[in-house]
Amino acid sequence: MKKHVIDMIEKRGVSLTDIAEIVYELQKGYLPVTMDICLDVVDSVLEKREVQNAVLTGIALDIAAEKREIEEPLLSILLADEPLYGVDEILALSITNIYGSIAFTNFGYIDKLKPGVLSRLNRHKNEQCNTFLDDLVAAVASAACSKLAHSFEKKERTQDID
Ligand code: MG
Repeated sequence: MKKHVIDMIEKRGVSLTDIAEIVYELQKGYLPVTMDICLDVVDSVLEKREVQNAVLTGIALDIAAEKREIEEPLLSILLADEPLYGVDEILALSITNIYGSIAFTNFGYIDKLKPGVLSRLNRHKNEQCNTFLDDLVAAVASAACSKLAHSFEKKERTQDID
């Protein structure tokens, strides 16, 4: 299942390295991270069933919109990525919810900043509909940031005890 989800994301033009780069850029000022660590964390976020379900659902809707397989008025809303639609963000929040408040605040930050691959997705090149994909990628990156922050914190605490 995880492999299928990663294939889907890659087919839509986003690699795990793209997502890990967002994580790295956001965390490098605060934590001793490397790209390898960021890649591992992104990979582990995609291990979770809830995350996989959200990604599959969102990408399926993007593809259905591209194929004009959705009825109006929803079709036009999805193709235009209307800012007030909001269901794309809500689906993405089902990912950040699992990872607590750090994931939630990072999501808001990433959504505003649109670093790395997200600015490209937002331009909707090649007639590709990325209405859900951009939020899902932002959510996976935010979840990974949160997981990293918590794991480093835990490491420090155990070292204190030693
Ligand atoms: Mg969106």
